[in-house]
Amino acid sequence: MSGGPEKTRATEPLEGIDSSRPERRRARLFRRIFIPFAITWITLPALVAAILSWVLRDSDIDLGPLFLGLTFLALTGSGVSVWLASRVARAIAQPLRRLIRFAERTGHGETGLTIHLEADSELSMLGRAFNRMSDRLAKQIEQIDRETAQLRAILDGMVEGVVALDSNERLLFVNERAISLLDLPTKNPVGRRFWELVRVRELLDTVNNAVKGTSTVSCDIEWPGTPTRNLTIHATPLIAPSEIQVRGTVVVVHDITDLRRLEMLRRDFVANVSHELKTPLSVIRLCAETLDSGALEDAQARGGFVTQIIQQSERLSFLIVDLLSIARIESGRESLRPQAIEVAEALEDCLARHENQAHQQGLSLKINQTPPDLWLWMDEEALTQVLDNLVGNAIRYTQASGGTVTLSGRPVPGSTEWVELEVQDTGIGIPETDLPRIFERFFRVEKARSRELGGTGLGLSIVKHLVTASEGTIKAASKLAKGSTFTVRLPRVNPSN
Ligand code: ADP
Repeated sequence: MSGGPEKTRATEPLEGIDSSRPERRRARLFRRIFIPFAITWITLPALVAAILSWVLRDSDIDLGPLFLGLTFLALTGSGVSVWLASRVARAIAQPLRRLIRFAERTGHGETGLTIHLEADSELSMLGRAFNRMSDRLAKQIEQIDRETAQLRAILDGMVEGVVALDSNERLLFVNERAISLLDLPTKNPVGRRFWELVRVRELLDTVNNAVKGTSTVSCDIEWPGTPTRNLTIHATPLIAPSEIQVRGTVVVVHDITDLRRLEMLRRDFVANVSHELKTPLSVIRLCAETLDSGALEDAQARGGFVTQIIQQSERLSFLIVDLLSIARIESGRESLRPQAIEVAEALEDCLARHENQAHQQGLSLKINQTPPDLWLWMDEEALTQVLDNLVGNAIRYTQASGGTVTLSGRPVPGSTEWVELEVQDTGIGIPETDLPRIFERFFRVEKARSRELGGTGLGLSIVKHLVTASEGTIKAASKLAKGSTFTVRLPRVNPSN
């Protein structure tokens, strides 16, 4: 947009405008003024001469001097006409030329122009009307520019991709999100045909159907690329209320990749839960049926079946406890109330809870020296759950007697903001390829062994959630047949502050 008001200059050349036209216009104006004057000044004396010569045809009066006078009058009149016509033509043509140039420049999109005509005439009034028109035009264009910029900013800020096409499927508008979702070229996509830019058949068909129809056409597309994306497309034909013909199409693109992934996770989760519940239930039922069909009388065999029923119902109970934990986490009802907890005390409590079990398995459970007065910031119940899960796993997967499970707590070296808790075992270890997956729900390195040992496959996923919700991190390191180390980093506090 041009800057402040500007005076037009009549001599300034304007692109696309014939510069010889003003001269021609002036000549035409001159002719229009001159010819009637000249005709009057020539025909009037000629008429007078003709009448006089007819009236005085029989008299002896010498008409020569009179004719000479009339000829002189005609010539003088013509001369005066030339002078007059050229003066009037110039006086009108110059402001007119400036007005025409002004109108043409405004028509070419220049704004903020003003024109000042000196003479106080109709033309100067016209000039003032032009100024007012130019002023209004400038304001309207400024408002349109502002609104366009605003609309552009809104569309560019949208999470959905938006593409506008004309009836020939030429691109009229595309926002940043659509460029990235549809992998459109960032350089000058506007004006190009949609099928030149996009090769995915389903999308082109959707747009095509929208152009031919009168209602929105939608489709779900698996968009090729790395990684592949799931997109939902809505193509709506643009029809003005008074028109029948489609003027174009607006295509709105939603990225539903995350939604699809969540759906898949949920489906897998439901399938896993059903499977996990079905197995112990089937074993319990089978044992009960076997007992019912006579094994109850067999004093030797019944003990085994009863033990199986107890073990499987325990497994069911663990599973249900873990599932309830997950349900609480998922529903967002799990409200953590973080507080300052002394690390040494938390580790001592944990040791006390697992000492017996470790002892029974012939394992040594110990705490590495933990600095006194080291405090962390976490919900107490959540910390108990995290430590119990990690220590429980360490004991469960370190079965060889003589093994050791070590708990430690220390400040993170070089940081005053973090505390590290570590659970280290000398157990079976985790294969390197499985290590990145152990925090996934229901992931187990060895399904059978985990089940046998009472594992649900949910413990570490719950631990990871609780640690992350407490603004901490967890990582695992392991070597097959050597042992595993789980390190949890949590916010450190000084309770006296
Ligand atoms: P589970 O209830 O089966 O133990 P978790 O989510 O707690 O489920 O652990 C997932 C899997 O990670 C386990 O099945 C096991 O294979 C492996 N794992 C976890 N902790 C250890 C450990 N300390 N040593 C070896 N393997 C482990």
